[in-house]
Amino acid sequence: MSFTLHGIGVSGGIAIGRAHLVSHAQLEVPHVEIRPDQVPGEQERFTLALNRVRRELSELVTHIPVNAPAEFEAFLNVHLMILGDDTIAEVPRALIADQHCNAEWALKQQMEALIGQFDQIDDPYLRERKTDVKQVVERVLAVLMADAQSSATITLPEEGSILVAHDLSPADVILFKQHRFASFITDLGGTTSHTAIVARSLGIPSIVALHHARRLVRENELLIVDGTHGVLIVNPDQNVVDEFRLRQHEWELEQQKLRRLTTTRAAVLDGTRIELHANIELLEDVYQARENGAAGVGLFRTEFLYLNRGELPSEDEQFEAYRKVVMEMGRLPVTIRTFDLGADKEIEVASRVAPNPALGLRAIRLCLAEPQMFRRQLRAILRASAYGRVKILIPMLSSATELNQALHAVYEAKRSLDEDGIEYDRETPVGGMVEVPAAALSLGTFTRKLDFLSIGTNDLIQYTLAIDRTDEAVAHLYDPLHPAVLGLVASIIQTGAKADTPVAVCGEMAGDVTLTRLLLGFGLRQFSMHPANLLSVKQVVLKTDLDEVTHVAKRMLRTDDPEKLRSLLHRINSL
Ligand code: PEP
Ligand code: MG
Repeated sequence: MSFTLHGIGVSGGIAIGRAHLVSHAQLEVPHVEIRPDQVPGEQERFTLALNRVRRELSELVTHIPVNAPAEFEAFLNVHLMILGDDTIAEVPRALIADQHCNAEWALKQQMEALIGQFDQIDDPYLRERKTDVKQVVERVLAVLMADAQSSATITLPEEGSILVAHDLSPADVILFKQHRFASFITDLGGTTSHTAIVARSLGIPSIVALHHARRLVRENELLIVDGTHGVLIVNPDQNVVDEFRLRQHEWELEQQKLRRLTTTRAAVLDGTRIELHANIELLEDVYQARENGAAGVGLFRTEFLYLNRGELPSEDEQFEAYRKVVMEMGRLPVTIRTFDLGADKEIEVASRVAPNPALGLRAIRLCLAEPQMFRRQLRAILRASAYGRVKILIPMLSSATELNQALHAVYEAKRSLDEDGIEYDRETPVGGMVEVPAAALSLGTFTRKLDFLSIGTNDLIQYTLAIDRTDEAVAHLYDPLHPAVLGLVASIIQTGAKADTPVAVCGEMAGDVTLTRLLLGFGLRQFSMHPANLLSVKQVVLKTDLDEVTHVAKRMLRTDDPEKLRSLLHRINSL
């Protein structure tokens, strides 16, 4: 039976191959009581297992393949350090003696205690490092339990297989390079896990957070992994396989061509410069933005740093996160959006049951209702402005009152920093997202007081067409080519140009190559998108004749016939 699972694609591309399952040692740890006279022998067994894992890791360090990513050695060294730490090397020995238990059980107890401590850490990067502790412990457990299928002793299947695991360590991932796995998929994992970082740099299509893949997929089953979209197809029929083989081939050729464009100046045929910026959610995304030649960060969705946790971040914690991104981007601009919490992005402060969350206390509305939270964030952003080129972006503005209150909050944050004698860039530009039709239709209010605008097409479409963007039942109605949407987007761009207020698009439309020329034809000169889309959009930009696309784009604005719109879009993309 064929079925599809969805997870988080951490590395793009398509892989087609047979499943190879890896079991998970940690889940099956037995608890055995031992006699006092068995304690020294059990402690010795534990020490031998540690020594064996140390040897394995050291060996990996000395045999790092030349084409391995630079981070790999650092990861292995972190694992060696963890292995040598008393909390792993000594505490379980004491537990064996105190609790008269087997080594596996003692080690597992200690790991759980350590992980509990990691969960208390505020810094998301450090918190994520608990994964490293788990992975080291799992290696030792695997040796202790002599589990032939554990991650420490992966039995290598044929080349081109797809590895299916509950979780994997970076060391396991690097073996893929040597043994030419086509891809890997895991039930666990987040975008900041080391495994995901290594996977990205290896360029292996991969998906994490599939939840039940390890349980549902059987050994040797045929799989298609679409790492770009985070989709796993199990047991596809021949037509689907043929289709994906074709896509795979095209994707690979395309990537090779695209990479050559990284340092190419983004400009249309007449030389007009087009700014291509990146949308980022986490600190790590900034590296991908740079690798793909982003001219800046056009949208930093800060709220993603703080989802999945009970309490709100302190000013200092936020400042550190923003400063890291700003420093990483050097002299390139970083547009930091204030929290867009509420609706589908909940944390405790915003988690009240609203009758209609998308129309409720969301984004700037929530920030204005929680002035302490807003002030902490504005101060943190402004403090980061002393380290590079920062812009502040306010989401979901809809009225003059809201705008004035938001600007007043920025003013107050600046004043408080002045009082505290803290440095910041006094000229930090403040912009607003245009994502509510009311703002689009009364743009003068916003162009007069803001330094720049950014069109959030995801929400602009949601609110214009009255389609909940999170509701699958109406997903088919979500249409960027609806004449009302096109009319609004074009008029925001044109009104911005007349008022001399720079306008960007940062919704998904900006990263959709089929819409690049249309947006250029509307007069858009600044796009912000997921880093993975930057080079393909640049490729379209480079081949675009502005006069020609402007002409067709104007014709598109004069029709409301969906058929005609689609055929004109086809025409604009064939020019
Ligand atoms: C948008 O609405 O288009 C946008 C970029 O913001 P988000 O997707 O985070 O709501
Ligand atoms: Mg939005």
